[in-house]
Amino acid sequence: MKVSAQPPGIAQRDQPKKTHSVKPKVDPVVVMVGLGYVGLSTAACLASKFHVIGVDLDKEKVKLIGQGVPPFHEKALSPLLRKHVQSGMLSCTTDYDPISTADFVFTAVGTPSSTSGEIDLSQVKSAVQSIGRAMAESKRRPVVIVKSTVVPGTSRSLVRVLEQYSGKSLGEGFGLCSNPEFLREGQAVRDTMKPSRIVIGPFDPFSRHRVLSLYRQFYGKQMPPIVDTSPETAEMIKYASNAFLATKISFINLMARLCEKIPGSDVKDVAEGMGLDPRIGPLFLQAGPGFGGSCFPKDVQALVRYMRLMGLDASMLESTLSINETQPDNIASQAERMLGGVKGKNIAVLGLAFNPDTDDVRESRAIPLIRKLVDRGATVGAYDPMAMEGAKKELGPIITYSSNARECVKGSDLVIIMTAWEEFMDLGSNELARLMGHKPRVLDARRIYDPERFVTTHFAATGLGTAEV
Ligand code: NAD
Repeated sequence: MKVSAQPPGIAQRDQPKKTHSVKPKVDPVVVMVGLGYVGLSTAACLASKFHVIGVDLDKEKVKLIGQGVPPFHEKALSPLLRKHVQSGMLSCTTDYDPISTADFVFTAVGTPSSTSGEIDLSQVKSAVQSIGRAMAESKRRPVVIVKSTVVPGTSRSLVRVLEQYSGKSLGEGFGLCSNPEFLREGQAVRDTMKPSRIVIGPFDPFSRHRVLSLYRQFYGKQMPPIVDTSPETAEMIKYASNAFLATKISFINLMARLCEKIPGSDVKDVAEGMGLDPRIGPLFLQAGPGFGGSCFPKDVQALVRYMRLMGLDASMLESTLSINETQPDNIASQAERMLGGVKGKNIAVLGLAFNPDTDDVRESRAIPLIRKLVDRGATVGAYDPMAMEGAKKELGPIITYSSNARECVKGSDLVIIMTAWEEFMDLGSNELARLMGHKPRVLDARRIYDPERFVTTHFAATGLGTAEV
């Protein structure tokens, strides 16, 4: 493995030979297959330098994107998309024809969990077959770049598929490179423009040279550190990173549970004290409702299944998952304690998206929490600045939906903060007290409020991970 902290000098053997004839510079054509959170955010960023054509099977999505409108909420994506669609740098389609003229073909299709928890590779397989078929018509030598998160060995298994469907061979007719994605939803544009690192696992020198050139052209002097390794290691880096971060979250949530039983202790201070140790670091050390979204839960699950397939004990990661799974129960129990039972009580849940700045409710911990509260007889109202539509699809009519935070908390017995949206931080304790009326209570599962703010009011306010209710 090579790690270059500076813009990598492309290996000597890969450098183009010096020539005196000056060829006109033609920017590469990039095709992005799969226009979800990863594919569309990446495509919109790349379009500031390259001609990008997005391919997705979802006609509605393609129609919206073609009008410059993102089909989901992602911070900073909307103006970028509008700009590049209007300038013609970014276009999209439902057919694979543009691949025949592409220099780079990214796959960013989904890799969800199957019902048994294993990775479901059907989208990847089907997309790669279509890419192979379209490549048969290509006069170029495109490099296929696997951005989707796939278990180790998957990219290698795609060589045969691409060769079979294109009638070409790896290295001569096309290139292939694993290039896992590390962006975070809600910060996808920022993470793409300024990634912590780029991990590549090329299958041949041509692909290494081409992919590095593409990123050098895109990032220029701001080239992030490059980890240049084998395809299998690249795939492992992605899983190991997600499993580690998820474990960090479950670890601090476990400590939060303990703090809740120790009068005078507060997990927030515990985390701060730990995080100052450079060996630990402060990030992903905030106690909360647990991890959600489209990545951590299904990636850790897939890794567990993969390890078991390899005959390995994955109990450490199984604990990570089970702590996460039971965290909504923990919050529901805390609500019970605060209210002396939730039956017949009005509970306002603020935040439905798994993270702020996204509308994604996939695996959001707010969904199982709400189900539990309803099952225990509470009347639940909810509000999220962006995720109302997604939540309605998940929860249907079992709760009421408010059009703003103030309306949601009005008259409720308890407010539970589930997503750290900035607008919730603006709700003052006096305002909450006025809106909620008698004996207001706040359960701050994201620890967005300074408890000092509530000291002077007749609030019973608590955060997750503290015994003071
Ligand atoms: P997504 O479900 O939001 O988007 C996938 C897109 O692929 C959809 O628009 C779907 O219509 C399209 N698609 C499916 N099959 C297709 C096909 N055969 N041809 C063309 N389009 C097809 O997924 P996502 O969240 O963007 O994730 C994509 C990949 O990136 C996954 O492997 C995921 O694990 C990984 N990843 C996701 C994130 C994240 O934060 N969402 C971060 C890093 C990595």
